[in-house]
Amino acid sequence: MKRRDLFAASLAAGIAGATRRRGWAATPEASAALGRTALHGTIPHLVPIRAHADQIMDIKVCLRPFRPAGPRMDVERVAGKTVVHNYGHGGSGWSLSWGAAHIAVGHAAATLERRVAVIGCGIIGLTSALTALRAGLDVTIYTRDLLPHTRSVRANGSWTPDSRIALTQQAGPEFAKTWEQMARYSWQTYRDYLGLPGNPIDFRDNYTLSDTPPDAADHAPTPTDPAKGNFATTGAPQSSAEFAEYASRISDIIPAPELLAGADNPFPVGYARRTPLMIYNFGAYGHLLLEEFHQAGGRIVIREFHSPADLADLPERVVINCPGYAARDWWNDKSLIPIRGQTSWLPPQPDAPYALEYKGAAMISKSDGVMIQGYDMYGLGEMDGVGNSFEHPDRAEAEKAIGIIEDLFTRFQPRNG
Ligand SMILES: Cc1cc2nc3c(=O)[nH]c(=O)nc-3n(C[C@H](O)[C@H](O)[C@H](O)COP(=O)(O)OP(=O)(O)OC[C@H]3O[C@@H](n4cnc5c(N)ncnc54)[C@H](O)[C@@H]3O)c2cc1C
Repeated sequence: MKRRDLFAASLAAGIAGATRRRGWAATPEASAALGRTALHGTIPHLVPIRAHADQIMDIKVCLRPFRPAGPRMDVERVAGKTVVHNYGHGGSGWSLSWGAAHIAVGHAAATLERRVAVIGCGIIGLTSALTALRAGLDVTIYTRDLLPHTRSVRANGSWTPDSRIALTQQAGPEFAKTWEQMARYSWQTYRDYLGLPGNPIDFRDNYTLSDTPPDAADHAPTPTDPAKGNFATTGAPQSSAEFAEYASRISDIIPAPELLAGADNPFPVGYARRTPLMIYNFGAYGHLLLEEFHQAGGRIVIREFHSPADLADLPERVVINCPGYAARDWWNDKSLIPIRGQTSWLPPQPDAPYALEYKGAAMISKSDGVMIQGYDMYGLGEMDGVGNSFEHPDRAEAEKAIGIIEDLFTRFQPRNG
């Protein structure tokens, strides 16, 4: 959830909060600002989340592969091969994977070669390989790790297509169009995976909660400190305002939030809204993709590459290069900036299938565990984790995020019904 979205929602929720205390319904202005007000009485009975630090079963750390200009998707000739790049999808790799794969495979198919090598078996490599197979190509994945051991499965795992995907200035207007193409294609493809056994792809109601009404500053552009400069002057992003936001380009296909007014707000906070959120159940989805790949005749070779010259001995003449953040070393792409993020996992709670965001912590109850992530607990917005490549778990950070959710539920009064 982007901070500015949260504030936009809070504007509407704030209006509603003021009216709710007098027992009124949300105002038309509030509803219009947010989407609409939920139909009265449509909030289901919510089982509390058992968020306690002594329930932690895993802490995962991931580095978002961020490039200021957006993902690298160009084509070059190296070591006698045509190399199609597909890496650097920031905090949006799961969400944009199918769309990015569609573009990369388009470039590969244009060579008219039948045999294609895909380097990497994270979510970008695997969807690229499957897309290539579906296009009738003969595909071998060469990879150091299979999906369950990649950085991909250390993500949060929800639809976040413009999360730290690029900087507005550095990416330029052309990338905005490419982003829209990728986002629409991915969203459509994910629909093919809904309603399947094991729910590889699913939806959760996501509740965005806040205690405080917005003030005028929340709706002004994100403040920047001129003394800090910006990416152009320092070579590193310096404020949230530099990060691109493209979500409004696809608002026609993404479910809108509903304002939860009065008795329809089940949480012990003043301001709440509900939005359906697409989620990825890593276990079920990962297994399904690997199974589909093998069934369609794909091959996997475990191999580590050390320099681009290593490509020379591959039998394939076309390579789709999907190494994620590792491109910083193995392809020497120093434009990649690490953006650290950490998730904690508690035992699954299938009786509580929903998600929420509160005070910079996010919770998603998934089939493979309850995921809790502190995405903005220090008020840094999009700058949280930028430039941080420390890939070890931070227990204190995990406990802080879980504590936020725990505190919420100690004040929560479950409803009957
Ligand atoms: C905390 C956090 C939360 C996130 N949440 C979300 C989310 O909710 N939604 C979303 O869309 N995105 C999210 N992301 C972003 C997403 O995880 C990444 O964009 C995505 O995982 C990148 O996938 P990838 O396949 O490019 O890279 P990786 O998963 O890193 O895969 C790279 C592959 O290349 C292989 N490889 C690398 N180097 C070599 C080499 N030299 N030789 C051989 N093989 C090699 C690796 O073994 C691996 O198989 C999140 C990221 C973080 C950090």
